[in-house]
Amino acid sequence: MKIIKDQKAYTTSILVLILLIPVLFLLIITMEEYDQNVNNTIENLESEQIKNVYDDFEEEILRSTKESLHNITYEVITSKRSITRRDDLISYIQNKINKKADNQSKDFSIKCDILDIKPSDNPFKIELDYQLTVSTEDNKIKKSKNQQKYVEITDKNYPVYDPLPTLKTGAILDGGYVEYGDKLAEYITIDNSETYMNTIEKITIKECPLKDYTQHGNSNDTFLSCLNNHYYHNSHDGMCLLCRLENKTYCNHYGFETFILPTEMIDEAPASIDHVLLNDNQNQYPGNLITVENTSFIYLDNGHKAKYGL
Ligand SMILES: [Zn+2]
Ligand SMILES: [Zn+2]
Repeated sequence: MKIIKDQKAYTTSILVLILLIPVLFLLIITMEEYDQNVNNTIENLESEQIKNVYDDFEEEILRSTKESLHNITYEVITSKRSITRRDDLISYIQNKINKKADNQSKDFSIKCDILDIKPSDNPFKIELDYQLTVSTEDNKIKKSKNQQKYVEITDKNYPVYDPLPTLKTGAILDGGYVEYGDKLAEYITIDNSETYMNTIEKITIKECPLKDYTQHGNSNDTFLSCLNNHYYHNSHDGMCLLCRLENKTYCNHYGFETFILPTEMIDEAPASIDHVLLNDNQNQYPGNLITVENTSFIYLDNGHKAKYGL
C-alpha cells in the first residue's frame, strides 16, 4: 500500500512541476518586461531631463555672452586697450561658459564650444555660433547640436559700452559718461574743432526707439529725447560693435552711429556724428547748425539731415 501511496505522491509532484514550468516562464517574461519598462521609463525620463538641461543651458549661453560683452567693453573703455584678436573675445566668453557648465548639473555632462562670434545684419545683435552637447554620465543618451543665435547688445541688465570714443581720443570715463575735455577738439583735424571742447556724453549703447528715422524732425521733444538719451541708429558708415572693440578704422558690416553734442554754437562746424568726428582716415566733414528749442544744438551735413528728417 505504501508503494502505491508513494507513487501517487510522485506523480502529483511531477504534475505540479509540469504545471509550474509555464508559470515560471510567465514570471520570468513578466519580470523581464517589467525591467525593460523600468529601463525605458528611466531612459525617457533622462532624455526629457536632457532636453530641459539643454534648453536651460542655451539661455545660460546667451546670458553669459551678454555678461561677457558688458565686462569686456567696460574693461576696454577703462583700460583704453582694444581687443586686437577676435579669438581673445571668444576665449573670454568660452571661459565664462565653461565655469557655468561645470556648476550647472551633477547628473549630466554639459559641453559647449564657442565656434565663432561675428557681426550680424542687425548691428544691435551679434551672431554667436556654438556647439552644445548635453549627455548622461555614461554617454548613452545625449543631445548635441550646432547652433547659430543672435545676442542682443542692448539688454538693460548687461549694458554694453561704446569703445570708440575712449579708444580713438583717450577721453576719460566718469560714472556712465565719457568726458572728452580737450581730447576730441584736438582729435578733429578740420576747422572749428574747438566747438567740441569739454563735450560730455553717455557711453552705453542704446537703440533709438524710432524705427522711421525721418520722424526725428517731427517735434522738438522727439529729437531732444534722442539727443539726451544718446541713442544709436543703424548706419552704413558707422562701425559695428566688434570693429569698435578692435579699434578698426574701417568696417564693412552693418554698423551704427550716434550724435556727439558740441558745446559751442557757430554757423558751421564738424558734423556731430560719431563716425565723422572719430574718423581717422581724414574723412571728417562739416555740417550746418541745427538748434532745438535754443537749448540743444548739433551740426549736420545734408545727408544726415535728410536721414533724420531735419
Ligand atoms: Zn534717434
Ligand atoms: Zn564691423
